[in-house]
Amino acid sequence: MASIIILDELTANQIAAGEVVERPVSVVKELVENSLDAGAGKISLDISDGGLKEITVIDDGSGMEEEDLPLAFERHATSKIKSAADLNRITTLGFRGEALPSIAAVSRVTVTTRPHNCISGMRVEIKGGVLMSKGAFGHPAGTTVQVDDLFFNTPARKKAMKNAATEGGLCADLISRLALARPDVSFELRVKGRRVFFAPGTGNIIDAVAAVYGAGQSREMVPVQVKGENFRVRGYAGKPTLHRSSRSYQTIIINGRYVRCPAITTALEEVYRNMIPAGRKPAAVLAVDIDPLLLDVNVHPAKQEVRLLEEERVAGLIAEALKAALSDGFAVPALKKVPPTTMRTWGIEPYKESPVQMPFAFPVAKNTKAMEIPGEAAECRAVYSPSPEKAFPELIPIAQLMPTYILARGSEGLYIIDQHAAHERILFEKFLGRAMSVGSASQALLIPAMIELTPREAEILISEILWLKDAGFIVEHFGGNTFLLRGVPVYFPTGREKDIFIDMLSIFEKPGARLERNDFLARLSTRLACIEAVKSGGKMSIQAMEELLGQLARAEKPLACPHGRPTIVHISYRELDSRFKR
Ligand code: ADP
Ligand code: MG
Repeated sequence: MASIIILDELTANQIAAGEVVERPVSVVKELVENSLDAGAGKISLDISDGGLKEITVIDDGSGMEEEDLPLAFERHATSKIKSAADLNRITTLGFRGEALPSIAAVSRVTVTTRPHNCISGMRVEIKGGVLMSKGAFGHPAGTTVQVDDLFFNTPARKKAMKNAATEGGLCADLISRLALARPDVSFELRVKGRRVFFAPGTGNIIDAVAAVYGAGQSREMVPVQVKGENFRVRGYAGKPTLHRSSRSYQTIIINGRYVRCPAITTALEEVYRNMIPAGRKPAAVLAVDIDPLLLDVNVHPAKQEVRLLEEERVAGLIAEALKAALSDGFAVPALKKVPPTTMRTWGIEPYKESPVQMPFAFPVAKNTKAMEIPGEAAECRAVYSPSPEKAFPELIPIAQLMPTYILARGSEGLYIIDQHAAHERILFEKFLGRAMSVGSASQALLIPAMIELTPREAEILISEILWLKDAGFIVEHFGGNTFLLRGVPVYFPTGREKDIFIDMLSIFEKPGARLERNDFLARLSTRLACIEAVKSGGKMSIQAMEELLGQLARAEKPLACPHGRPTIVHISYRELDSRFKR
């Protein structure tokens, strides 16, 4: 017969830790939130080995009374609510009383604290959830929580961690977001003693924005403001010239809490849709203060997602405010019309050879999904290994089907080509071929580009600098999170080195195994190809289409773009006949 037992406190805490303490950044979040709840005006952090070796958070908040300190490590012990009735009016970041016991169950924690009205401080040491020592200890008013050897007693969890740069980068990113959420609090982050981030805590969002994005980039942002019935929004939005490949430059804050709010994100991106290139993401810091009754915070507690109850109204007003801010003070650059002469080539050099004529098994229109399309890394190997069979029918372009398709006829029927995907494939192979052959050869920039990075980007850059050097990038530390880009690989497109370089850092951002050199070059080439390729919506002349198809015919792997999407779909004459019931 099964017998039910009640788990002991330590086991229960270890189980809870599995949910609360996923990785070092979760510890940082809980500790900093506790400091903020304790009313701190100044919070400084020390991190080493991505937080796995040490995370120390020092605050000047309320401190803890002698009798409260051991209680803080009991499960469901909190000073923030007294009863269920309080749940409806929570103003603190924490209230479940689970963080400290969970963290203490999977690390060595030392807490030293002194309330403002006490003359002496106190310290406790806890290892794997067990109290090791307790006693009087000198400390300035406030609290220091030091977490050493995270996951020392849960080896499987420890093994699941990424490298220190990735984990440290996540911590730096979180601190930047919290600094944007609480511009009234001063934040300092040191990694192995080196200061990587400092926000002065002046109370002005723009000072926090400058601390996170750099003074130069903060000047590329315009203030946004709107006040409605029971809510208001303040913040900054990037001019259309400031955009990124990911949402890393978007921070949404609701009632002082850094959250995800899909409704606001959608409204924001919609406003920029025709102002910035397709696929790019705008920059914005938007702080919403709203009546808590209009919020549903229980959508996704772990992911910090928030839903607004009057979503459309609020998102609509935010969109209006953004439009007003963007049209104020400077002109939104209109999308440039490309003169017909440059339109013709799109950087596609005319080809001389005639394409190989051969019947070829294209993915047919009805079952494109069934085709196995290799990912970019696999593609990359395919390109530099002995080359696969090449075959391509002669295609004659008939017309362009807006926004992105080329219709072509061949001896086997109708072919529909995605112009962007096809061009990406061609450029990808060109860039990768050059990247593989030139090694670390570099071209110096005439004027070195000043690169201002977020703390997270700076962490990544520093940890990958040898790598980047090996690929032909010459970067110099300028001070703080500012760097000088002095050289780029010889095949790099000219004119936009700085933006492409910053974007490229996100290749290393994805938590995952360390990149192999060839995978890095393949990903870099994929980015470059995507940036340079003719866009969806770009008008092409018949001649330009001919050139594009000719070059695709000569590609090593013409059937898929480097992201793995098909470049071409075939509808045979037989298929057409059967559809017309001939
Ligand atoms: P919660 O934040 O949900 O209340 P925690 O486990 O994070 O639970 O913390 C437990 C209690 O310990 C808090 O309610 C608070 O009273 C106290 N505490 C934790 N960190 C600090 C700090 N930095 N300063 C003052 N008190 C703190
Ligand atoms: Mg807490």
